[in-house]
Amino acid sequence: MKEIFGSMPSGQTCHLYTIRAGQLTAKVTDLGATLVSLFVPGKDGQLDDVVLGYADPAGYLASGTYFGATVGRSANRIHNSCFVLDNKTWTLTPNEGPNNLHSGPNGYNIRLWNVESHNENAIVLSLHSPHGDQGFPGNAMIRVSYILETDGLKIVYDAISDRDTVFNLTNHSYFNLAGHQNQQKAMDQILCMPARFFNPDDAANIPTGELRNVVGTPMDFRTPKPLGRDIGEDYEPLHLQGGYDHNFEVFCNPCAILTDADSGREMAVYTDCPGVQLYTANFTEGLGKDDVTYEKRCGVCLETQYYPDSVNHPEWPQPFVKAGEKYHSETKYRFTW
Ligand code: BGC
Repeated sequence: MKEIFGSMPSGQTCHLYTIRAGQLTAKVTDLGATLVSLFVPGKDGQLDDVVLGYADPAGYLASGTYFGATVGRSANRIHNSCFVLDNKTWTLTPNEGPNNLHSGPNGYNIRLWNVESHNENAIVLSLHSPHGDQGFPGNAMIRVSYILETDGLKIVYDAISDRDTVFNLTNHSYFNLAGHQNQQKAMDQILCMPARFFNPDDAANIPTGELRNVVGTPMDFRTPKPLGRDIGEDYEPLHLQGGYDHNFEVFCNPCAILTDADSGREMAVYTDCPGVQLYTANFTEGLGKDDVTYEKRCGVCLETQYYPDSVNHPEWPQPFVKAGEKYHSETKYRFTW
C-alpha cells in the first residue's frame, strides 16, 4: 500500500509505504527513508506499534530527534567538524557547538529519497549525495532497503562514491516494546548487551579516546537489567550525557536484546557494524503520532554504527571507503513474542 503522507516545504509530496510479513507490519516514508511505525504482536496476540514517530512530515521536519530516520553520511559526532582524508582536511558544518552531529544541517533525514522498488514485504530507497554535500568528498549513491521478514526487520545499506569518502550509515529508531504510547514502561524494559567496553565522552559528547571496561559500572549490561535501574547512579558518564548516550563495542551477535516482560516481546539486534549507540531518549519531548505527547526517556535507540568520531581515531575501526569500493552493511531487528 502507498499513501500520501504530506508535503515538503518545496511542495513535493511525501508518501508512506506499507510492508508486511507474517504478523509484522511496517510503514516507511520517503522523507528521510524513515521507519514511521512497526507493528509487532505480543504474547496475547495484541499488535502494538513499537517505534516512536510523528503524524506527518511537518513533525519530522521540525524536530531534532531523528525518529526512525536514516542518518548519513556519518552518524553521530565528529569532533571540531573536520577530519583528514587523503592528506586533505574536510570541513563539515558545525551543528552542536563546534562539533558535527549526524552530519550537520540538511541531513539525509530531512530529504526526499527516491523509491526504487516497493513490494509486499520490502522497500528500497536511494539518494544521490553530490561531491561536497555536507562537506563530504565524492559523488555518492546511497541505497537503503527495508526488508520485513516474518521474524523481524532487516535494514540493508549499500553505497558507492567516485572519491574516497566516509560511509557510516545508521537507522535512528526509538523503540518501546510496550507500544510507543506506553511511555512510562520504556525504562522498565530489560536490556542485555554483551559489550565489554564503551566510549566515555566529554561534556560536549565527544569520545575522550578511552575505551572503558564496563565491569563494576552502571554501563554493564552483560547480565540483563532494566534500562532504568542504574540510570540515576552517581557515575560521571551518566551525568555528562544526561543518561545513557554512549557507544558500546559490538562484541558478538546479537549485540543487544531488549525485552518487555508484560507483552512478552523481545527484540534482538544483529549487525555487522563495530559499535552500537545506546541512547535512552534523554531529551525527547513533544507531540508525536497518535496524539501521544512524548516525555523524556520514553524509548531507547540502539543505533548500529562505527564508533563516534572514528574518523579522528585511526586506532578504531575506520568508516573510510575507497573510490569505487562498495560499502555494504546490514542490521536486523529480530522479534519474538
Ligand atoms: C545521539 C544523541 C542525540 C540523538 C538525537 C543520538 O544518536 O547520540 O546525543 O541527542 O541522537 O539527535
